[in-house]
Amino acid sequence: MSDKHGYMKALKCRECGREYPLEATHVCEFDFGPLEVAYDYERIKKTMTRAAIQSRPHTMWRYRELLPVAGDPTVGLQAGFTPLVKADRLAKRLGIRELWIKNDAVNYPTLSFKDRVVSVALSRSRELGFDTVACASTGNLANSVAAQAASAGLTSYVFIPSDLEQGKILNSLIYGANVIGIKGHYDEVNRLCAEIAGKFGWAFVNVNMRPYYAEGSKSMAFEIAEQLGWRAPQHTVVPMASGSLLTKIHKGYQELAKVGLIAGQSKIHGAQATGCSPISVAHKAGLDFFKPVKPDTIAKSLAIGTPADGFYALRAIKESGGAADDVTDDEIREAIKLLAETEGIFAETAGGVTVGVAKKLIASGKIPREDSAVLCVTGNGLKTLDAVQGHCGRPREIKPSLREFEALLAHEEKVSA
Ligand SMILES: *Cc1c(COP(=O)(O)O)cnc(C)c1O
Ligand SMILES: [Zn+2]
Repeated sequence: MSDKHGYMKALKCRECGREYPLEATHVCEFDFGPLEVAYDYERIKKTMTRAAIQSRPHTMWRYRELLPVAGDPTVGLQAGFTPLVKADRLAKRLGIRELWIKNDAVNYPTLSFKDRVVSVALSRSRELGFDTVACASTGNLANSVAAQAASAGLTSYVFIPSDLEQGKILNSLIYGANVIGIKGHYDEVNRLCAEIAGKFGWAFVNVNMRPYYAEGSKSMAFEIAEQLGWRAPQHTVVPMASGSLLTKIHKGYQELAKVGLIAGQSKIHGAQATGCSPISVAHKAGLDFFKPVKPDTIAKSLAIGTPADGFYALRAIKESGGAADDVTDDEIREAIKLLAETEGIFAETAGGVTVGVAKKLIASGKIPREDSAVLCVTGNGLKTLDAVQGHCGRPREIKPSLREFEALLAHEEKVSA
């Protein structure tokens, strides 16, 4: 294959291995298996050294050989390289030796991990000549497509369930995107988008562009490994909606090992909300396949009842020696507060799911207390205020008078004594 595709070789069916040209297409014509980007690892090994990576800007694009664009990226140049925070206070509360938070709540530009996948999808969409981009979204993806399309001068259509959090809806409208609210669950939104994608010549980032889009998630694993000093953590806990992020984090660590940048692997653990837990329920039952569910949870960003990559997520969890679990809405809220109070990080509901499930996995010994773990916090709490509204107490109000303040303190001391 010539240089005109960069380090990509072809699209390849995950089931039968048949190869397809590097176009906007996502399923195998023979068995409907998902297509995935195949790379020239031998060539990548030569240019993608630690020294080369470390000489590049602190963004996800420092790993560009393993990201599916042919030329230089043109959209989302600042995304990624979010902080990896050593979380000693949370570690103590959860009873584990060492804990890290990969904090994509502050990813650029729209404060969720989706900025990674959208940067890749839109850069590749432009290479393929599209001027209109679209997505089916549970909220964060819509925000990122809307913002990054605006900055790239692309027209965007974002399709969302109409009952999303106000913050998520407003965060798409503000960029001038065409926001279409669908009266139904995400799974219905997704089905409609598959039909629209077949009919209109648009780049649907998570439909016909999905093979490229999904690869952007690997950058989270690349960064974690580099930030830990070029090693995979013993455990990585990942929230699951479609299961794509988890699958790609597993693949990301494997690729770094394949090109000789790290040794060792990470156990990958999956986290879901009990109100939408097809993957964790299947894992706990020892099954290789999941049963679709109807979502009912405050974790709307993870509310996918028929997860497109559920099968592969189950396989990645099993293969890596990880586990999966789920937490209730109350546990999600508690975990959001715990993370905020111990580490000063305000995560959205998906972050509550991750921290809540990590707590359970540590308590049950599936993540041993003497080990080290990384928790992937994927979105920002300011976008899901609805979820914690009324659960955080209220400010005490006084007149602007020193005497009133002293009286307040004296009163509270008496109450707490
Ligand atoms: C989309 C999303 C995820 C995970 O999505 P996958 O479909 O499993 O890749 C996790 N957290 C947040 C906040 C999200 O928006
Ligand atoms: Zn196939």
